[in-house]
This record gives sequence, structure tokens and C-alpha cells, in this order.
Amino acid sequence: MPKTSKTRIYIDGSLACDSQLVLSPDLAHYLLSVMRLSGGEHILAFDGHSGEYECELQILGKRSAAVKILSKTRDFVATPDIRLLFAPLKKDCTDFVIEKAVELGVRAIVPIITEHSISDKIKIERWRAQATEAAEQSRRVDIPSIAESVTLSKFIAAYNPARTLYFMDETGSGRPAAQVFQNAPAPADFLIGPEGGFSDSELKLLRSQPFARAVSLGPRILRAETAAIAALSCWQSLSGDWQ
Ligand code: SAH
Repeated sequence: MPKTSKTRIYIDGSLACDSQLVLSPDLAHYLLSVMRLSGGEHILAFDGHSGEYECELQILGKRSAAVKILSKTRDFVATPDIRLLFAPLKKDCTDFVIEKAVELGVRAIVPIITEHSISDKIKIERWRAQATEAAEQSRRVDIPSIAESVTLSKFIAAYNPARTLYFMDETGSGRPAAQVFQNAPAPADFLIGPEGGFSDSELKLLRSQPFARAVSLGPRILRAETAAIAALSCWQSLSGDWQ
């Protein structure tokens, strides 16, 4: 009996039972050289839109491989339509936020440039790769998207009012998260300020929007990455897919 390794990969394509798919050189390298898998081993693969499949790895050459798709192991389920809007932080903190937001089930992440944003290093491609890795690891069957970065004012100006924008307000003037997130169905967005906080004019702009709600995450000042995890966890447990 071939063993099913724990390896789980995202394949950018369309998977279907009883078909064979030649892997990209990067994926073949990952499975053969990094994970050191051999031909005949079973892995799990998902394509981001049709579910998850058990596959058999086939070696085609020294650096090329394919998968034979054997059976469907899970149907596709989308995560709730929620987005994390965050101001990019120092490198490691941004990496951390992306990984945790993907685990916590956001459908998309939007980097937002604010007045006090400390980092202007936007690394969309790197973040996309990280989001994909976190989706593989957390057994998602969908792939969260990472949008191009946008300034807060432009983002607000183009906002779809059918959604609700929850902004985490460290000044204490928001309502408690447990109240605001009760019966608060998707589509929803969660905006976290940068390490330097929102500026006064940004808070004024946010407070004047009919689609925006100020949220308090308690009496202590949280780091931006903690605030992101706290807000998403609280919403997921009260109105999301943790129920
Ligand atoms: N520099 C600010 C703190 C910013 S914390 C200060 O010292 O006052 C970064 C972001 O995390 C904030 O902009 C806010 O969105 C969120 N945040 C932190 N603590 C929070 C709290 N208790 N309630 C709501 N949001 C909070």
C-alpha cells in the first residue's frame, strides 16, 4: 500500500479524477528535492476552486514530475467573505500577520497605506507565496488573495457600501468587539492601524463613513498583529464559520 505523506500542495490549474497533470518545475523541485518524495507516494492537492484530491506522484525525469489524480478527498468550500486590511509592518511582523490571517480564514488581504505606516516595502509576490503556503498548511481548499496596496483615502472613496468596514480603534471610543460582532454577517472587512496608530484625520474620515463601525478590543493597546488576530478570532466565533 503506498503511504499518503502529509504533503499537501496547491496546484494552479484544474484537477479532476482519473487525469494526469504535469507539475511546474518549481513544484517538482519542491516535492522531489525539498520534500524528498519518491514516485508512487501519495500526496494531497487542491486547485483553489474544485476541492482536494488524493494523488500519486509520478517521476518523469530528474527534475520533472506529474501527479495522477486518484480520488476526491474534499469538496470545495469557500471561507466567509471577509478581508483583512492592514498597514504593512516590519518584515517578520507582516509575514506573521499574513500567515495568521490565512489560518483564521480571511478570503483576502489588502495592504493599506496610512499616514503613519512605517514600512513602504510592499512585497506582494512574496506575500502571495506565503499566503499559499499557509493555505496548504491549514488545509484550506481555497486560496486567499493578496490585493495591490492602496492608500486609506482611496480605499474609502472606492468602498462598496454593501460591505461593513470594522476599524479597530485603540482610542477607546469604539464599541466592544463582542457587541459589534454579534449578528454581523459577511461581507465584512477588518481594518487594523499601523504601529503608530491612525492619525486624527484618518479617524475622522473613518468615523464619518456610514458603512464603518469603530471597534474596541479592550483596555490595553495591542500590537497591530495581535489586534488582527484578536479581531478575526472574535468575529469568526460570533458571526463566522467557527459556529
Ligand atoms: N501607536 C498607538 C497604538 C497603535 S496599535 C498608540 O500607542 O496609541 C496598532 C493598531 O492596533 C491600532 O491602530 C488599532 O487598529 C489596533 N489596536 C490596538 N489596540 C487596540 C484596542 N485596544 N482596541 C482596538 N484596536 C486596537
